[in-house]
Amino acid sequence: MGPKVLFIDIETAPVILASWATRPPYADAVYVLRDTYILMASYKWADERTVKTIALPDFPRYRRHKHDDTHLCRAIHKLLDTADICIAHNGDAFDVKKINSRLITNGFKPPSPYKTIDTLKISRGAFKFDSNKLDNIGRYLKEGRKLPNTGAALWKSVCEDHDPKAWKTMRRYCKQDTALLARVYERIKPWAKNHPDMGLYRAYRDRPPGVPCPTCESTNTQRRGVIVKLKMRRHRHHCQACGTWFSGKPV
Ligand SMILES: [Zn+2]
Repeated sequence: MGPKVLFIDIETAPVILASWATRPPYADAVYVLRDTYILMASYKWADERTVKTIALPDFPRYRRHKHDDTHLCRAIHKLLDTADICIAHNGDAFDVKKINSRLITNGFKPPSPYKTIDTLKISRGAFKFDSNKLDNIGRYLKEGRKLPNTGAALWKSVCEDHDPKAWKTMRRYCKQDTALLARVYERIKPWAKNHPDMGLYRAYRDRPPGVPCPTCESTNTQRRGVIVKLKMRRHRHHCQACGTWFSGKPV
């Protein structure tokens, strides 16, 4: 079996603060009324077609505890526990850390280790797009857009009014983010500087013959010239499926 690759995106609730004034310079928060928590996650396994969502109202606990994400965190913990590689946009700085902070707050131990691929880092490393937001990358590459949303109003309807219609809207929005993430990843992955070698997650006897691409595992690869890497001249290969250039055995 190959690596279990998980695309994920989460939506979180805003911190609720108290303040003596609504406008600067006296608008500092004087105390926190409610900390942030996770509202929902959308995810897709690379070997499956559908994007799924899990949200607070999916759990019976929501009926009495509208802002308690313990059971949602347990479901996310299970996903991460299963994953070998987790792909998210800005995931290294936001999603993964935000999830971790909610996991520890809710008393969970770390999930089993997984590698991360951050599409924001790939984009920053390889391109000079005017904006590295997922919505913009999707637009440049004609892979689709994020769904427009009413921003703060939608979050208020979800977090404070518990409006089922707003939850539905947010689900659609969150789902589209992961669908777009997966499409953008497919386009930009051959440009990644240190993409994990997917073949290494497969038992040696299960590896395909030939010289498979480390990025997409396709065996449709060609040997093209020589590259100098790790102080050696090595065969250079090109993946005909995804376009990744990679080095092979010493010449
Ligand atoms: Zn490839």
